[in-house]
Amino acid sequence: MSDLEVDMVVVGAGPVGLYAAYYAGFRGMSIAVVDSLPEPGGQVAALYPEKLIHDVAGLPGVRGRDLVKSLLRQAESYAPRWLLGQSASTIERLGDGRIRLHTTTGTEVVTRSIVLAAGIGTFRPRPLPAGGEYLGRGVDYFVTDPDAYAGHDVLIVGGGDSAVDWALALEPIARTVTLVHRRERFTAHEASVAELRRSRATVRTPYVVHALSGDREVSRAILRGTAAGELHEVDCSRVVAALGFTADLGPLTGWGLRIVDRHIVVDSTMATGVPGVYAAGDVTEYPGKVRLISVGFGEAALAVNNAAVAGDPSAQLFPGHSTATA
Ligand SMILES: Cc1cc2nc3c(=O)[nH]c(=O)nc-3n(C[C@H](O)[C@H](O)[C@H](O)COP(=O)(O)OP(=O)(O)OC[C@H]3O[C@@H](n4cnc5c(N)ncnc54)[C@H](O)[C@@H]3O)c2cc1C
Repeated sequence: MSDLEVDMVVVGAGPVGLYAAYYAGFRGMSIAVVDSLPEPGGQVAALYPEKLIHDVAGLPGVRGRDLVKSLLRQAESYAPRWLLGQSASTIERLGDGRIRLHTTTGTEVVTRSIVLAAGIGTFRPRPLPAGGEYLGRGVDYFVTDPDAYAGHDVLIVGGGDSAVDWALALEPIARTVTLVHRRERFTAHEASVAELRRSRATVRTPYVVHALSGDREVSRAILRGTAAGELHEVDCSRVVAALGFTADLGPLTGWGLRIVDRHIVVDSTMATGVPGVYAAGDVTEYPGKVRLISVGFGEAALAVNNAAVAGDPSAQLFPGHSTATA
């Protein structure tokens, strides 16, 4: 018995996986999308949601999170099943040629084909050194809806682009914004750091989060200076832990795929060599590969159309024009 039976599983809800999900739906397939992160959007949502992307065809200067929102809306037109917060871990071949995919939370999905849009691998947010027990109770790894921070005292932890970008995005909305970083120097873009220093936000360096407290939800943080060890208390009803992510292909390395330098080798149909398993986006490797969103979108369409024909030899490779649909 499996929890779900679909025509295609897309592993990875980054930009390429979201587009593959749309495309599979457009081809009339039922779809499930698995991602190890609790939010869709892959690198775009996790690393640079506030940055403007200038090189996606037809969208001059689209903010990362707006691109993800549009891709989600497009994918949602075919109602995929979302299996977020769990990683695709193992596969087994069934007697009828289909594949049973197992996830790390114990979900089992039986499918005809899989598109691996796994980017640079399973993303895991780096945890806060203290206060992890407040995760989901005022502490988050992502800012999905900046308006949800209106009126809050927000503590942002980190020194990279996402920490600084989120501080800048929330500063006009939140009651107060405090950015804590364990070093004096930021790794974020210099112009963004300069803008932050001119803003209303309070910058505390070099400090780390020593402890969080609060009844049901977080309400206070104790910061500790990394140089002299002094303690400093701040009110905070929301904390954004933007300490970066680790990524690795993890369980996919046991699937019998050809992997070169942490990328999956594919042919011109995006087939991996494991029957029914295709790949698209940053995770793929072939001569001339360029790791860009626009390239990944094309690969997603190739992978889905070729998988459709492999799963049903009577199907056409050319999907028809989307303009022909109602
Ligand atoms: C700072 C920065 C700026 C960039 N700017 C641009 C730009 O201007 N233009 C451009 O074209 N590109 C840009 N890129 C590159 C672009 O973000 C990537 O090319 C794009 O995100 C690749 O999309 P993807 O869907 O293939 O992979 P990803 O975005 O990496 O998404 C892969 C998803 O798969 C999930 N996953 C992996 N393994 C598993 C598993 N086993 N089970 C479940 N889920 C799994 C991950 O959690 C992740 O969510 C930039 C990248 C960075 C870091």
